[in-house]
Amino acid sequence: MKQVIGLALLFVSAQLCAADLPAAPEPRGRTEFDVVLQKAAPAIAIEKLRPLHILLLAGKKDHGVGEHDYPLWQKNWTPLVSKLPKVTVDVAFTWPTPEQIKAADLIVIFLHTKWDDNQLKDIDSVFARGGGVVLLHWAVGAKEEPEKFAERFGLAYTSGAYRHGVVDLKLTPVADNPITRGFPAMLSLLDEAYWPMVGDESKVNVIASADEIATKGSPLKKTFPQIWTKQHEKGRAFCMVPGHYNWSFNDPYFRLMLLRGMAWAAGEEAQRFDALAMDGVEFKKE
Ligand SMILES: [Zn+2]
Repeated sequence: MKQVIGLALLFVSAQLCAADLPAAPEPRGRTEFDVVLQKAAPAIAIEKLRPLHILLLAGKKDHGVGEHDYPLWQKNWTPLVSKLPKVTVDVAFTWPTPEQIKAADLIVIFLHTKWDDNQLKDIDSVFARGGGVVLLHWAVGAKEEPEKFAERFGLAYTSGAYRHGVVDLKLTPVADNPITRGFPAMLSLLDEAYWPMVGDESKVNVIASADEIATKGSPLKKTFPQIWTKQHEKGRAFCMVPGHYNWSFNDPYFRLMLLRGMAWAAGEEAQRFDALAMDGVEFKKE
């Protein structure tokens, strides 16, 4: 009996959490997305591709159902990324071992962590040998020593303000940015915005930003970076705030942005991973 009540409670609490979620966004149209993909630079012949070792780092889930699901992302993206030619994938939870750090050409990080000196030292070692690091969503959160974090990743989020809902990402108009090539000028995602950011905006390349209310209670909006890159002497970082809800990872535009950022951070042609943008994605019936 106890077990039945326990199960019933579990079900009710899962329902309550799920009820907090807004309705999932409508699937995208396949035709419009095909147009974006077709504008990418031609794919490189497989024999010319450099072998890449990608480490997917996740952590303990810290939000409700359907949000910040780091373990689920790692579970789904390990087989997905493994489909790429000349790519091997490794996984780590909480923080990689020194061997894993050493072996990775690219580390994709989806978790919330403290970003202490030891972790930043590991990141420095990746950049020093020309490796790449990608930060997703709350991974850009660094409340304790944001300046140190911003030295590595350009900008830091100190949990100032956030908003869940439709985020209109204005893409920085750059003639031929390999990451956003073919994208529309505005990308709307049902996700989350973070602002403001700590760090020197002139030292990053802002890929996309959103207009949000700068001061609580004021109608005035300001523009805040949401996706950016940071180029070091050798290594590269790609950071994106979107990634709050699980469904974003199945949105082909979100996917393409992330995949392009991953390839760019690894020092590769940005379109190298484009083939995965539609893999398993549900499209609108046209
Ligand atoms: Zn979030």
